Amino acid sequence: MIDSYGRKINYLRVSVTKRCNLNCSYCGACNEKDNTELSAEQIEKIVRAFAKCGITKVRLTGGEPLVRKDICDIAERISKIDGIKKLALTTNGINLKDCAKLLKDAGVTAVNISLDTTDSEQYKSLTGYDGLTKVFDGIAECERVGLSPIRLNAVLIKDKNDIQAESLINIARDRKIDVRFIELMPFSDDGENENLVVRGEDILKQFAFLKPVITAKNDFEKSVARYYEAEGFKGRIGFITPISDKFCSECNRIRLLSDGKVKACLGNDGVIDLMDVIDNEELLTNRVREAILSKPMEHKFTCGYGASHGLNKIGG
Ligand code: SAM
Repeated sequence: MIDSYGRKINYLRVSVTKRCNLNCSYCGACNEKDNTELSAEQIEKIVRAFAKCGITKVRLTGGEPLVRKDICDIAERISKIDGIKKLALTTNGINLKDCAKLLKDAGVTAVNISLDTTDSEQYKSLTGYDGLTKVFDGIAECERVGLSPIRLNAVLIKDKNDIQAESLINIARDRKIDVRFIELMPFSDDGENENLVVRGEDILKQFAFLKPVITAKNDFEKSVARYYEAEGFKGRIGFITPISDKFCSECNRIRLLSDGKVKACLGNDGVIDLMDVIDNEELLTNRVREAILSKPMEHKFTCGYGASHGLNKIGG
């Protein structure tokens, strides 16, 4: 479906929970009191309505989607919906080793794994959990069962893990895995993130051997990331730059929150609740259409969007 600003909205991100088994400082508090979660059946109904409005790609996210015991049931229901051609998942990778194969069998094809460092001690300090080995085991299992593409998402923070750029990039040199750097967005408990952003262009300057590749070949490959490649590399390096270079005019996504509200833009307040119409297919589809049309022209991160908008609440 085309939104009010002429953008084709075909990508739905579904936050299945606000709960998370890590506690990354830049993401916002993980000790959510409100744990309202849609059931698998409710998620299926809503995604069906989105599919009728032109959504073809769905990504399961959170919070941490793999803390839900019924995540494979959710995936299977979504992958069977008419019109849904691609189902992906974003995870911190902690529980991934045990469920990569089950997710693939349930219809998930692609996985993004968040990884901000290759140093165990630093991983522990960034996430509050000594889990780096589990993440690497999860990545290896995704490779083994043939999930593809596998992408690592890294957020670099000034004077904290910014020296990790090289070792993260080397993963793409050695394995068929894309490594993407996401600029730190202003969600944090203390509102401090603004001063800690490592801009995409600053990383790029350090690695002159990276050459741009054209990516937007079709709707599925269309991405907010700008990709680079290097001779001898098996994977690509991507940059997602919501702070230094807004990509709102190309944004094709919309978000379903874990409590049944739709957030049309990550960087704007304003949600549309679907719960009062969830059992009426026609009204639900109309409400979804209304939500897509409510998508604002651009995000407001740069105007003091501020704290208390943790990505665990919004759905990363
Ligand atoms: N738990 C899953 C995970 O870790 O991938 C999915 C949710 S998480 C909120 C999704 C992504 O958002 C992660 O890659 C995380 O690094 C990123 N993220 C969280 N807070 C962020 C921030 N303030 N700026 C940029 N990215 C952020």
